[in-house]
Amino acid sequence: MTTRKDMLMTRKPGALLGLFLGLALLATACGDSGTSTQGASPGAGGSEAAAGGVPSFPEGTTMAEIQQEGKMVVGTKFDQPLFGLKNPRTDEVEGFDVEIAKLIAEGIFGAGNAEGKIEFVETPSAIRESALVDGKVDMVVATYTINDERKQQVGFAGPYYVAGQDIMVKADNTDIKGIDDLNGKKVCTAEGSTSLENLETMAPEAEVTTFDVYSKCAAALSDGRVDAVTTDNVILLGLVDAAGDEFKLLENPFTEEPYGIGVAKEDTEFRMFINDRLEEIYESGEYVEAFESTAGKVAEQAPEPPAVDRY
Ligand code: GLU
Repeated sequence: MTTRKDMLMTRKPGALLGLFLGLALLATACGDSGTSTQGASPGAGGSEAAAGGVPSFPEGTTMAEIQQEGKMVVGTKFDQPLFGLKNPRTDEVEGFDVEIAKLIAEGIFGAGNAEGKIEFVETPSAIRESALVDGKVDMVVATYTINDERKQQVGFAGPYYVAGQDIMVKADNTDIKGIDDLNGKKVCTAEGSTSLENLETMAPEAEVTTFDVYSKCAAALSDGRVDAVTTDNVILLGLVDAAGDEFKLLENPFTEEPYGIGVAKEDTEFRMFINDRLEEIYESGEYVEAFESTAGKVAEQAPEPPAVDRY
């Protein structure tokens, strides 16, 4: 079995150095304190902050390894306003998924200590599973629907949000009112998404165009190469909002898309830690704050957080 350490070593040369530095620091810390444990140990699934605000985790867990390395690698989207968007002016990624990732990282590094310790990498829909399987990322927070097919390859904490697939058309379009109307129309969605699978089963006569990312579908709709774009309502809402008056969302969702946090399939401890952490941020109000400062600026109101599924 490949451990997170093995994967990080293949990830890039700098990671190995970071790991050694982390271990060296840890060795120094242990030397100072003799055999005493450092602060409260919350157990494998726990995330309570120890004295000094830094949680402690059992040796060998993904949480401990991320903490020792001082870096967490997170896969997210870079072109989806409201959930995951790389701001071209600041080069920072912004959105609800990004905030959720930061809150999970704070559960590892301690409140206020995650700054500068998260590396966000772009994971378009079709590469999310392989990014996790190959150990390129520690977790994926990327409008990622939990389903049984994906569970064959990856694990999912959550859900932390439930979206629904919907349709975006030009603002003046009057003939597309729902999924059935997509038969015979040119429709765009992303490769490797549940949106594509649903489109193919629910409107089998649609003429489908796919790209790696949804922003390319929005461009195709804008210049008339396609008649409609279909994916999750919250993704489309961000694209509608970013395009001024050009597009509209039908607001007629026809699926349920529970968003999960993707982790390595066998890493039950890490998955349960994230589930615990989600429950903490539901309780503390940080979940609602994260929503209101991002998607909530355009979407109606913060959702009632869904119950996590500890399968
Ligand atoms: N939530 C759907 C999925 O995970 C569509 C959105 C996306 O592609 O990120 O496939």
